[in-house]
Amino acid sequence: MAGEPISKVVIVGGGTAGWMAAAALSRVFGAMPALSVELIESEAIGTVGVGEATIPQILVFNRMLGLDEDEFVRETHATYKLGIEFVDWLRKGHSYIHPFGFYGLDMLGVEFHHFWLRAKELGEDLPLDPYSISAMAAQFSKFDRPRNDLPNSPLAKLGYAFQFDAARYARFLRRRAEAQGVVRTEGRIVRVEQDPDSGFVTAVQLDDGQRIAGELFIDCSGFRSLLLGETLGVAFNDWSKWLPCDRAVAIPCELGGKDQPLTRSTARPAGWQWRIPLQHRIGNGHVYSSAHMEEQEAIDLLLANLDGKPLAEPNRLRFRAGHREKSWDKNVVALGLAGGFLEPLESTSIHLVQQGIARLMTLFPTRDFGEAERARYNRLCAQDYLDIRDFLVLHYRATERDDSDFWNYCRTLDPPDGLLEKLEMYRSSGRVFREHNELFTETSWLSVMAGQGLVAGGYHPAVHLMDDAEVLRRLAHIREVIGNTVAQMPSQREFFQRHGSAMREEALVAS
Ligand SMILES: Cc1cc2nc3c(=O)[nH]c(=O)nc-3n(C[C@H](O)[C@H](O)[C@H](O)COP(=O)(O)OP(=O)(O)OC[C@H]3O[C@@H](n4cnc5c(N)ncnc54)[C@H](O)[C@@H]3O)c2cc1C
Repeated sequence: MAGEPISKVVIVGGGTAGWMAAAALSRVFGAMPALSVELIESEAIGTVGVGEATIPQILVFNRMLGLDEDEFVRETHATYKLGIEFVDWLRKGHSYIHPFGFYGLDMLGVEFHHFWLRAKELGEDLPLDPYSISAMAAQFSKFDRPRNDLPNSPLAKLGYAFQFDAARYARFLRRRAEAQGVVRTEGRIVRVEQDPDSGFVTAVQLDDGQRIAGELFIDCSGFRSLLLGETLGVAFNDWSKWLPCDRAVAIPCELGGKDQPLTRSTARPAGWQWRIPLQHRIGNGHVYSSAHMEEQEAIDLLLANLDGKPLAEPNRLRFRAGHREKSWDKNVVALGLAGGFLEPLESTSIHLVQQGIARLMTLFPTRDFGEAERARYNRLCAQDYLDIRDFLVLHYRATERDDSDFWNYCRTLDPPDGLLEKLEMYRSSGRVFREHNELFTETSWLSVMAGQGLVAGGYHPAVHLMDDAEVLRRLAHIREVIGNTVAQMPSQREFFQRHGSAMREEALVAS
């Protein structure tokens, strides 16, 4: 017998996580009879106010919501993102792009990069960027959507995401969620009621005396983790020994510098600085380790490295790398910062919210809250955090930087086991693998391993099935086709003009 259906979902928090959950649930389950969704948020508490860069999986979320992409880009003042440029991460003066999409073409059933490694051995020491349409288009400030109608063109393989204004994104989703029937309640939660026997959350009380009851509670309360952490006491798995950055200062500035469709991450003495260009401003932030740098120094360094006039006071944020041991306990599911946080180096937090929502929909409970569903949900979420952690640690661990205590710590730390296996495999045979369908693909692992200066100890022996001259000829051909294709693409600005968005011309320096 199926259990009794849930009739009331309460979402606690109206930041990005809360409104993503509200928009998605009301879109997919809106037609379910007798299911109501209520979201509680407190303007007095506010949101974290950052979170502007995304990864290509967001396209899936947008499709699920039925969004018109041009409208979405206009409303959220979004720009396109073709990857992340890492500046000074290997050593000062060096940079590389971690692009979305793929490199080159697999040949003879062997991954492309093995041919690239062979070419290196033959003396052609080129970086990977010229083999990626996304990396090249980003460098030349070009953008176009992938062309599935041209399967033989590199354009068919272009991967992209967005950089948007977090506040506008939340407002955009809120409008949709409310139109789909979500009720929004303003107020500060001051008490959480629990069933004395089961410990299940039964209701929350607001500062104005209102009591809001529900059956399923989605905790999107941010770093406070009001329900999962504070009320249910689910422990936090602390990963700061691998990811020591625990502070950030964020500040928007006027447009300036190049208008490439890229997020930029520049390594600093005790962390790194992000630059996320939007249509109307640039989002900037400095992520750093408080054990290695004072707050004022971090702020000064950020302010000294902006491309335009600051538009607000610095927003100071504190965090710890890690996640709650369970993302779903009893009748509470945590999404967003309430469930965990890994620094924004690869823009993964919004994706984790999206993953959590998709999983919750798949495993949507009935009132008896089956243990098997919860266990599966928790196992998958924990694995996501772990996979992302290993990928982030790679950036810090594989570096030549020895110019500060922070970099000396990172360069010499013991890598987690999963990362160690990947490092050893690449160093011994040039092989890159993607474990259990993890978020980051072989392209991503390769890009960062090669970008961070790791040397592959070999390549697939099947590469020798192709004559050396033919290897070099084919690689040159791939570079040429990508170069010609990029030359014909519209600039991001031209693309905006065609699709009803615009950068503020006067504030931009031509790239
Ligand atoms: C420095 C930094 C940079 C980041 N950059 C990126 C990025 O580039 N890309 C990316 O994907 N992610 C990024 N993130 C993560 C991203 O910002 C978050 O994942 C996202 O904003 C979701 O936040 P949230 O909704 O969980 O929490 P919040 O935005 O903090 O929202 C919490 C909500 O809970 C409400 N609330 C809390 N307590 C109560 C209470 N007692 N009563 C009523 N309401 C309450 C608040 O009012 C608010 O509405 C970044 C995070 C940080 C810290």
